[in-house]
Amino acid sequence: MVKQLLKQYNESKINRQINSKPVYSPPGPEEQAAQREALQRAIRDERDNYYNILFAGQDFINKNTTALDRFIINGEMNHNDLYKLAQLNRIKVEMGKGWNELVLQLMRELDQAGWNREVSSIKEKFGELRFYASTDHEDILDKYTAKSKTICEICGRPGKFFTANSWDYTRCDEHRRT
Ligand SMILES: [Zn+2]
Repeated sequence: MVKQLLKQYNESKINRQINSKPVYSPPGPEEQAAQREALQRAIRDERDNYYNILFAGQDFINKNTTALDRFIINGEMNHNDLYKLAQLNRIKVEMGKGWNELVLQLMRELDQAGWNREVSSIKEKFGELRFYASTDHEDILDKYTAKSKTICEICGRPGKFFTANSWDYTRCDEHRRT
């Protein structure tokens, strides 16, 4: 659905660029706005659907949390709470589950230091964790990025950072690709 709408949206832009004949009447700003809105709605629906499937039958403390300012951070959180935080921030978690526990620790430490629960990205990049949050405590984020380079991104066991075929990874011996 998203792909189809995105294709339509891009094609209509391309057609407008190619077709410069004076008879051609390009879509007006209203039509463009409607297309853009339909695309955004489809992306939102797709994301909601993704989380509905993920959370089906799961039990976790933030299951019914609907706003970031009500998001509960404590020792009872599990990986579903991490995904819930992502959902409330309208993002997806783009890293392996081996770092879930690490990110939950990071969330608790940020909370202690003072954090509004906003995060724009939770992902693996260049073999390490990137957690982009609005906080004055960059040192905490840096500490956990450094920690991620000692934990296997796949399984959470001790791992080593390495480069293979110009890709960076942090993996245990079992999950190491060569
Ligand atoms: Zn592993």
